Amino acid sequence: MPVEVPDEHRMLQELVARFVEEELMQLEPNIIARELAGEQHKLNDAEERRLLDKCKELGLWGLDAPEEFGGANLPAAALMAVNEELWRTIVPFTFPPDSPNLHMLLAVATPEQKKRYVEPYARGEVKSAIAISEPGAGGDPSGMSTKAEMVGNQWVISGRKIWVSRIPQADFLIVMARVGKEMGRKGITAFIVDKGTTGLEISREIPMVGGHRTYELVFEDMRLPADAILGEVGQGFAPMQLRLNVRRLQIGAWAIGLSRRSLEMLCSHVKQRKTFGAMLADRQAIQWWIADGATKIHACRLMVQDAAARLDRGEDVRQVASMIKVFATEMAAEIIDHAIQSFGAMGVSKELPLQLMAQKVRVMRIYEGPSEVHRMTIAKRVLATVK
Ligand SMILES: Cc1cc2nc3c(=O)[nH]c(=O)nc-3n(C[C@H](O)[C@H](O)[C@H](O)COP(=O)(O)OP(=O)(O)OC[C@H]3O[C@@H](n4cnc5c(N)ncnc54)[C@H](O)[C@@H]3O)c2cc1C
Repeated sequence: MPVEVPDEHRMLQELVARFVEEELMQLEPNIIARELAGEQHKLNDAEERRLLDKCKELGLWGLDAPEEFGGANLPAAALMAVNEELWRTIVPFTFPPDSPNLHMLLAVATPEQKKRYVEPYARGEVKSAIAISEPGAGGDPSGMSTKAEMVGNQWVISGRKIWVSRIPQADFLIVMARVGKEMGRKGITAFIVDKGTTGLEISREIPMVGGHRTYELVFEDMRLPADAILGEVGQGFAPMQLRLNVRRLQIGAWAIGLSRRSLEMLCSHVKQRKTFGAMLADRQAIQWWIADGATKIHACRLMVQDAAARLDRGEDVRQVASMIKVFATEMAAEIIDHAIQSFGAMGVSKELPLQLMAQKVRVMRIYEGPSEVHRMTIAKRVLATVK
């Protein structure tokens, strides 16, 4: 079903597009310079503070947080357009709070947890991270072995997590651990862990391509109060899945933003560059890249809008979220690659943002579930519909 975009959502998208052009794009040279200097691709504190002040002034804050927590309670359909605009640049910035953990917390937090964690999180005053992946279980989190057991009136958690993002900034961490001896999804339980909890050790920082940093964590007899459990014992998999679905739709929107930007760069370059007596824009090989790129972006946006509308209606979006995660990231990888190719040597120079965009999309094909795992689950569901 085609999705109609209400005027207020269109106006929000235009506001964000202006914010990206006027604020974020201006910072892109700084990010590229940091990359050239071998530093992390991130904003410094002063840049981030200024942007946060600006988005508060513009009301670009708590967009999907409930109104009772001071948010705008916007539907996913509106937020996808926001995410698309934000990812037209490689400047790493998002309007607080980060949606996936917010949705997981809203689904299962107790009233006390909402007061202590969700309210300040929704106001953008605190940050969070989530630890699911382990050295022995990533794409298949049902194989996780981090253990949680009740000893006296405390939870004791032991194990190891890896590839965890945003740990240094996080005021609290959601940890997925197994309660009881059963393997598989049963027993997987979520806990909230405050920064600085005894027994939580950051054992190493792991630099990744695309300017990411992830962290390995060790929990050694980490003791948590009984009320640190998030949701019910053994019921952590479903809210974790909800969180992943929100992120997978966002990844679809991010991939559209990156694809749009690279197609724009490709088009403006090929209209200026002449080789063998003709403009690149007049070559069929290049025109087909443009035509296929524009067609796939259109298809992908419809997929994301449709999935967001389903999410807003409370429908199960697991299948379409997997389809989007695969289609969008592979589409963006192809379109960015064509843009790089059209620029020739300049395309692979570190002076343009294209190589950073390519790296970011490369990483997207792995986190929140590798493409092959999504293809496996899509195929399983399709096969189950046929006798
Ligand atoms: C930048 C980045 C940030 C991340 N942030 C976080 C975070 O904040 N918190 C967190 O918990 N985790 C995080 N992760 C981890 C991420 O979720 C896992 O890396 C991902 O789920 C894959 O797990 P794995 O690395 O163990 O790969 P594996 O599960 O070992 O898979 C390796 C490869 O095997 C292939 N494969 C696997 N299963 C199948 C199959 N069934 N059929 C065919 N092929 C298959 C795929 O090609 C896959 O890429 C992050 C990862 C990255 C790269």
